[in-house]
Amino acid sequence: MLKIQRKQPPSLDSFLPEGAETPIRDEALGAPTEVKVERIADLFGQIMETLGLDLRDDSLRETPQRFAKMYVQEIFRGLDPQQRPRIATFENRYQYKQMLVERDIRLHSCCEHHFLPILGRAHVAYIPDRHVVGLSKLNRVVDYYARRPQVQERLTQQIAVALQQDLETPDVAVWIEASHLCVAMRGIQDEASVTVTSAYEGRFREPAIQLQFLAAIGKVGSEAAAQTGPLAMLIQESKSSALGDKGESSDALD
Ligand code: ZN
Repeated sequence: MLKIQRKQPPSLDSFLPEGAETPIRDEALGAPTEVKVERIADLFGQIMETLGLDLRDDSLRETPQRFAKMYVQEIFRGLDPQQRPRIATFENRYQYKQMLVERDIRLHSCCEHHFLPILGRAHVAYIPDRHVVGLSKLNRVVDYYARRPQVQERLTQQIAVALQQDLETPDVAVWIEASHLCVAMRGIQDEASVTVTSAYEGRFREPAIQLQFLAAIGKVGSEAAAQTGPLAMLIQESKSSALGDKGESSDALD
């Protein structure tokens, strides 16, 4: 019997510690985008039909195709290892050794239990060692891991570990605050609640450094942090409404 040798697909999260990986069938990653889109369009059309919708209606006719493209190319883009942002770092020539905080990075993700949106903000910080990075790369790392079916705890961890690896420093902090539409639209129907998760790695586990980070993102008063030492850091506010648009945080290194 002829056995078709498939090219070994790239592994999605091989660098992440056990438990932090997205549960994925690695063999499925290699399937071409068009095949995935076609299959999902077919299956989503069946869901719509099962709900009783008439797909001959000209408003609905293209929905399965539109839905499938959106899933594969946008909302779940982070399941494609080729899309992992390539992070070019630069030598830390200015010997900047304080924390750098990038705050208010917009976050669009999707809950893996209900497939409904998770919308919020991420704040990330790192203390450079020998390398620094173009600032919008921090946004891109957040966005890549957000574009998967997620639970917020794992998303927080994935971003922290990816940044440690890309920036070659153990000193990384991530804070995410987000609304889950599965909590707002169904079940308990609480539109006001916000879920907060955080990851403190390396020196961010030291209370004084952690407090400075929390002050920088406005979670504790700066007086409290000032008592622990001088507040020396660079804070960059993310103004981006969409990645790739001109409003994104600009930086000479970018
Ligand atoms: Zn959910």
